[in-house]
Amino acid sequence: MHFPDPFKPKRHSVKVKVGEITIGGDAPIVIQSMTNTDTANEQATAEQIAELAAAGSEMVRITVDTAEAAAAVPGIKTRLQHMGIHVPVVGDFHFNGHRLLTQYPECASALDKYRINPGNVGRGKKRDEQFATLIETAVKYNKPVRIGVNWGSMDQELLAKLMDENARLAEPKEPKIIMFETIIRSALDSAAQAEELGLGRDKIILSCKMSDVQDLITVYRAMAERCDYALHLGLTEAGMGSKGIVASTAALAILLHEGIGDTIRISLTPEPGAARTKEVIVAQEILQTMGLRAFLPLVTACPGCGRTSSSYFQELAESIQAYLREQMPVWREKYQGVENMSVAVMGCVVNGPGESKHANIGISLPGNGEKPVAPVYEDGVKTVTLKGEHIAEEFQQRVTEYIERRYQLL
Ligand code: SF4
Repeated sequence: MHFPDPFKPKRHSVKVKVGEITIGGDAPIVIQSMTNTDTANEQATAEQIAELAAAGSEMVRITVDTAEAAAAVPGIKTRLQHMGIHVPVVGDFHFNGHRLLTQYPECASALDKYRINPGNVGRGKKRDEQFATLIETAVKYNKPVRIGVNWGSMDQELLAKLMDENARLAEPKEPKIIMFETIIRSALDSAAQAEELGLGRDKIILSCKMSDVQDLITVYRAMAERCDYALHLGLTEAGMGSKGIVASTAALAILLHEGIGDTIRISLTPEPGAARTKEVIVAQEILQTMGLRAFLPLVTACPGCGRTSSSYFQELAESIQAYLREQMPVWREKYQGVENMSVAVMGCVVNGPGESKHANIGISLPGNGEKPVAPVYEDGVKTVTLKGEHIAEEFQQRVTEYIERRYQLL
């Protein structure tokens, strides 16, 4: 029997090196994130970069919007080095990037990559001059550049020009099509201009971020057909909570499934008091649940139902996932392949034993009316039955022992 491969082959793209990280070509899809601290506050920004890197962000972008922010960049890098954090740091420039990069050469040199937005570089003749300054600085310091077009800050002059051309057609296209074309042309024309100014193709990454799922898919499919630059994917202004996660996942999953995308960012609005690292965790979970990369063992848990005898199994599923995430920085260095391990935490006998047998290690907790015992399965075989007050601690211990036994030391 033949079942087709669920994925289309990854689109061919030019490889770009950012610090020690490779984006594009056959390299794994890279996870990025962005700080929300005031960049001028060196300590707070360095701490948040470190936090994002510890969560798994492989590249972190910071706003460089003022003289104070530009002046702080070298200090931020130094602080990170002292913390032993070597994640590439990307500077995000709008409106005054040409001035900041010229006036603060140490900032230009310290950053690992620049992100520029063609819609916010300048107007008229000044636009070309300022764009040239940005690119020439990148060439001078040998830095890659992401040319990141954004739906909310489209190049208005290009849009007006394409709208005029469209109006003169015998059968004008819908305005939305012209907007899509403006975004794509803005990215591709800017990339061509950057190449003419001496920036190599292996120093260019493109993005065309939209806030609507279907629009994002349409634009990226067209981009993927029209160029071989590495592409950064993200749904911009995805929003808060489950809406932001669902919208980002819906859009990115379709494109990644089609082999489109070399690096991703999930633009979540953090809920008040919530950690900034949530966007990194969501990015990892998208890639891991799609089978594109593995970062840490994931817990399979049932949703619970009328057979669930208490919230105990939900608490156990949550505490085990938190334990796995917490231990992962150590295990990753120690045990080869541990990130691929699967753990099941199930609520009753209906699917509990079956799902637990499919996992590397699983536990089936007692549902309503069942004996108060919890069988544990390892590699499909029942190894122990836990009972009493300390099932959670004992299961955690079994998970640790399973890892020590099953995965080779690096
Ligand atoms: S495994 Fe049991 S408790 Fe969990 S959803 Fe299925 S029937 Fe309900």
